[in-house]
Parts: sequence; C-alpha cells; structure tokens
Amino acid sequence: MESARLALFFVAVTLTAQTPAPQRKFGVQVQPGPMDSILLKDYAPASSLVVPETQVDKARFPVIDVHTHTFQADIRTPQDVAAWVKTMDEVGIETSIVFTGATGEAFDRQVELYKPFGKRFQLWCSFDSSNIDAPDYSERAAKELERCFRAGARGVGELTDKGSGMQRGSLPPGKRLHPDDPRLDALWRKCAELNLPVNLHIADHPSCWKPLGPDQERTPDFQHFNLHGKDVLSYEELIERRNRMLEKHPKTTFIACHLSNQGHDLAALAQSLDRYPNLFVDISARDYEVGRQPRNAAKFLSRYKDRVLFGTDMGRAPSMYRGWWRLLETADEYMPGRIWWMYYGLELPPDVLRSLYRENARRLLNWN
Ligand SMILES: [Zn+2]
Repeated sequence: MESARLALFFVAVTLTAQTPAPQRKFGVQVQPGPMDSILLKDYAPASSLVVPETQVDKARFPVIDVHTHTFQADIRTPQDVAAWVKTMDEVGIETSIVFTGATGEAFDRQVELYKPFGKRFQLWCSFDSSNIDAPDYSERAAKELERCFRAGARGVGELTDKGSGMQRGSLPPGKRLHPDDPRLDALWRKCAELNLPVNLHIADHPSCWKPLGPDQERTPDFQHFNLHGKDVLSYEELIERRNRMLEKHPKTTFIACHLSNQGHDLAALAQSLDRYPNLFVDISARDYEVGRQPRNAAKFLSRYKDRVLFGTDMGRAPSMYRGWWRLLETADEYMPGRIWWMYYGLELPPDVLRSLYRENARRLLNWN
C-alpha cells in the first residue's frame, strides 16, 4: 500500500515537471504566443505615452566637459577639431577636457593638433605603465609626467582599473598595478606637487560582476563589459583599494569618473565623499543612473554640488549633448535611455547646474 502511494506520488511529480502549471503573473494568466520567440537583443518596445517633450538646444549656462577622449571623438585632423568646436558652440560647451591616453611623442603630437584652438580644449596625459617591475619604474614614470606637464598636460587620465590592473599588458594577480600600489606613490605625489588632478575609472558598473543571464541588469549591448567569472578583483575590493589610495594621498585631487561606479547606491557614494575630501566624481556616461532615480539624484547633486563635475564620455554628436541638457534641466518624463532604462528629468535648480556645469571645474582643475 505504502509503495503504491509512493509510486503515484512520483507519477504526479513527474507529470507536474513535464507540463508546467499555467503561470499567473501579477494576476494575469500568461499564455504562449509570438513574443516567446523574440530574442532579448531585438526587444524594442514603442511607447504610446504622450507627455511633454522639451528640446534644449543649448545648455542653460556655459559648460566645461571634463570627460572626453580624442579617439572616441574620432579626432585625427585639424578639420575634425574645428568641426568639434562648431558643435561645442552650438550646444554650449566652453571647454572640453581631452584625455589623450598618451605620453611621450604621441602626447606632443596631440598638443600640436589642439594648439590652434587655444582655451577651447585642455589636454590631459596618461602615465608610463610599462615595465612596472623595473627598479627605476616610479622615478621614470614621475619624470615623464613632469615632461608632459611642461609640454602642456594639465591633468592625468583617464586611468582605468576594472580589476585587472592599470599596467600595460596583462599580468597574473599579485603582479598587477592597482591604485594603492606603493609603486604609484611617487606619481600621485607628483600630481599633487604639479597641481594635476587625476581622472580615475575604478571598478565598473556593479552589474559587470553578475552573470550574463535572465536577471542581468543591463542590455545585451553592454555584455562585452561583463567580468563575471573572470580573473579580476571584485567590485568591493576595487572600492577598498580606491579608499586606501585616497587615504594615502590626501593632497592629490582624484576625480573618480562615472560617479565612481557607485551611482546605483548614492547613499554609499555620499559616505565615500564625506570620508575623503580629496574625492570628486564626474557624472559622465551615467545618464542612466541619475535618469532612473531623478528625485534621489537631484537631492544628491544639490547636497554634493561642490563635488560633482559634468562630463560626457560619449563622442561629440550634438544630439548626445542635447540629451544631457534635457535630462538635467527639464522635468520631461519617460525618456528612452541607452540601456532600456527610461529616464526622468532632474530639473536641477540654477545654482546646482552652475556648479556642475562649470564652477567646480574652474575651481579644481589647473588653468595656468
Ligand atoms: Zn572615459
């Protein structure tokens, strides 16, 4: 008797496993249909929502863009630079900070390219990250930094550590150059001495450390940034190393870009800013973080209005700049974003906009 009941039970369990019970989600009976075969990457719903759309052609106040890249903006010739200046005039950018990613002769060539355009651009250099094991590394890197400074560099960056180190080429764990490495101490000190701010990309969006699967937060367009299961430091350890670097070098100005990759948790970012007076952040490429939490972000940007700088990091198309103005200046709702998240305008007050757009950059960067 007992075994017959057990057999029936197993039959029941097997049957249930084979034909899943019709699913109810939020009270709606889910049924099969044509949408079941659509690939995730092709999903692009059109919105029927009719709400005000505000076109902002030019920023409300003059803007210093503290995060651009010469290669990302596809700048090769003086004509390219001239075209960029024309766009900057149209959208309201006074000056663009250009990360050349270069040292040595490559940096000097960039200086020549931008020279005719005077104060419309400020060039930043990279740092020597080759042969980091050589005993003369720190001295060599600091010396080249000073040379770049004399050639016109007014900052260092963007330097990047997404967990596999900041050195040139790949090295095994333990051998890599992370921001708190003693070999960088001389370089960070030199930056303070020459009044060169550092733009540092530390960690990355936290979703990069989560598996690529049905609950991955960002779209398939961003999957090549994923680090899950790779031989890299964890998100948490990278933030820890950033903290050790900030603590060790209180006189050096660090601008952690992309809201220091803590834009998903503005309370945690606030704590970091409270703890380290030499930490500043740029908002570049994090339109999607502030746009999905407009009230929280507007409060944060008001409270830390002396600590956040405006940057783009997304090329130089006029529509890109205008997307930022709409996001920061208007109260428009349900704006389509870059990674499926809808944005809501922050409607920042004039004093916050002025600090974000220009005043913080005027105060913190080296304009001599
Ligand atoms: Zn960048």
